[in-house]
Amino acid sequence: VVYLDYNATAPMRPEALEATVSAMQTVGNASSMHHLGRDAATRVDHARRQVADLLNCSPGELIFTSGATEANNLALHAAYARGGYLMTSAVEHPAVLEAARSLTAEQPDALVVLPVDSDGALDLELLSFTLAERDVALVSIMLANNETGVLVDLRPVVEAAHAAGALVHTDATQYVGRLPLDLSELDVDLLSLSAHKFGGPQGVGALFVRRGAALPYRPILVGGGHERGWRAGTLNVAGIVGLGAAAEAAGKRLEHEAVRIGELRDRLEGLLLAKVDDCHINGRRLARLPGVTSVTFPGVPADAVLVAMPHVAASDGSACSSGAPSPSHVLLAMGRSREDADSTIRLSLGYATTEQDIERAAEAVVAGVQHVRTVLAATHA
Ligand code: PLP
Repeated sequence: VVYLDYNATAPMRPEALEATVSAMQTVGNASSMHHLGRDAATRVDHARRQVADLLNCSPGELIFTSGATEANNLALHAAYARGGYLMTSAVEHPAVLEAARSLTAEQPDALVVLPVDSDGALDLELLSFTLAERDVALVSIMLANNETGVLVDLRPVVEAAHAAGALVHTDATQYVGRLPLDLSELDVDLLSLSAHKFGGPQGVGALFVRRGAALPYRPILVGGGHERGWRAGTLNVAGIVGLGAAAEAAGKRLEHEAVRIGELRDRLEGLLLAKVDDCHINGRRLARLPGVTSVTFPGVPADAVLVAMPHVAASDGSACSSGAPSPSHVLLAMGRSREDADSTIRLSLGYATTEQDIERAAEAVVAGVQHVRTVLAATHA
């Protein structure tokens, strides 16, 4: 099988797998006072340092969570407690959009969802206008879109938000470990990440909270006061160790991998555009993550194409949260029709993708689309 679903989850990096398994073979609660507990705490400290090094932040600014969904929820939950509006965009992951909707359920006017244009770019003027007009507690805008890979230049967002007294959160789940990120330069207050998108285990992630950010203390999970009270629950030592190892491994090869993967993605897109009549790539005019392509084959249902190419693991448009057959809210927000959204597949590459994978996948997609078109033509005849 050619695995091209890295944006849903990446295979574990060997370093992360080894570190996770080895941590699982030890015993010790990181809160226990005896030496086994202290050993576990030392492993967690090391992992915190590894993640902090990848982001260029301080280890004390990281809260370990069960993943980006929890980190996003925690960020929005705490920031909303400041009072004021929440502002986000129409192409955010449901872990932001649904969290924002749920927090503002009693007061729907307190949520502002910014539209995007047909390429997926944010309307910065509307953002500035809203910040000037309303008392915004938090702006939450992702760094890279999980479906299209479209990147957001957050600097003007941060500047406008801070000038208006709002905090900034970014869901960097698809960005961290794939492109260089320096939190001493990007002045966001909060950032979410997830280990399994860059080669760590599933079920572990982190929320970065900038030291000194005006964030009310408002945990979602209360109990034993772990993570300085921000997230109660026995630490997932093996998961955290795997997250740290994945962060270190990804950090060492970040720039080299980004270039290599970008070239493979461009080759894949070139092959598809050359060999399939009538297809287009979403967000192509903007800067995108190197490893993802979102391709629409108008009139050709994506689920039928996926079934027609069982040896390629890819997704229809909204894979990260899919299972439920609803059209991608990201593509709808970009002005695509429901039919086009249902005719879009996402192929996402990563550190272990090879040139041969790309050739095989392109062949399979071309044949799959052709097959579905032939079947549709026969049914309509
Ligand atoms: N945010 C984005 C942009 C994602 O792509 C995902 C993927 O699932 C999530 C959040 C949720 O992450 P997690 O699986 O760690 O909860």
